[in-house]
Amino acid sequence: MSPRAGRSSGVGSGDPLPPAAAAPAIESPRPPAGPDPAPAPPAAPAPAPTPAVAAPSLPEGRRPTWDEYFIAMAELAATRSTCPRRQVGAVLVHSNRVIATGYNGAVRGAPHCSDAGCLVVDGHCVRAVHAELNAILQCAVTGVSSAGCTLVTTSFPCVACAKAAVQAGIVSVIYLSTYPDPNSAEVLRAGGVRLHRAVRDPDGAYRVRAEA
Ligand SMILES: [Zn+2]
Ligand SMILES: [Zn+2]
Repeated sequence: MSPRAGRSSGVGSGDPLPPAAAAPAIESPRPPAGPDPAPAPPAAPAPAPTPAVAAPSLPEGRRPTWDEYFIAMAELAATRSTCPRRQVGAVLVHSNRVIATGYNGAVRGAPHCSDAGCLVVDGHCVRAVHAELNAILQCAVTGVSSAGCTLVTTSFPCVACAKAAVQAGIVSVIYLSTYPDPNSAEVLRAGGVRLHRAVRDPDGAYRVRAEA
């Protein structure tokens, strides 16, 4: 388990049930035995959480489209990133089902950038495994085929992830932000991968447009 796992909400964490004696009992109301207790001091307001990256942005007031649903999942995965230089989340989807997810982070057992600092070589952090590659490698670990999948990612893949995506049989990419490496798009197009840019309109809806 990663060091960040402790920040989970605890849903389904297997916490033991409270002892039976502590369970609230249903009692009929009765008058207090003594004087009223002193009023409790007002509780200090809890500090607002400060997420590292923006929370998933689902449209308000309507059911999200499949694209918006998976984009929001990728944005949620990005919040788990441990490399402060690039916080990216990725989801592999096949037939509207999530096959794997990934985010930028160190390899298993190694310290994360958020604890040990980034290891920067030629302007790139080499400590973190990229989100897209982590999602692809999760398929290798779990024995699930990535062939025919769509890669939904919060950032356009770098050239290394683009090569991995082609070799993993990914057929299309939906991305939010751009990445300054023209070789990536060339690799993906040469591999027959269809590219789609997702842009959020002011009304909150995502427009996913196919690129030539
Ligand atoms: Zn890093
Ligand atoms: Zn990459």
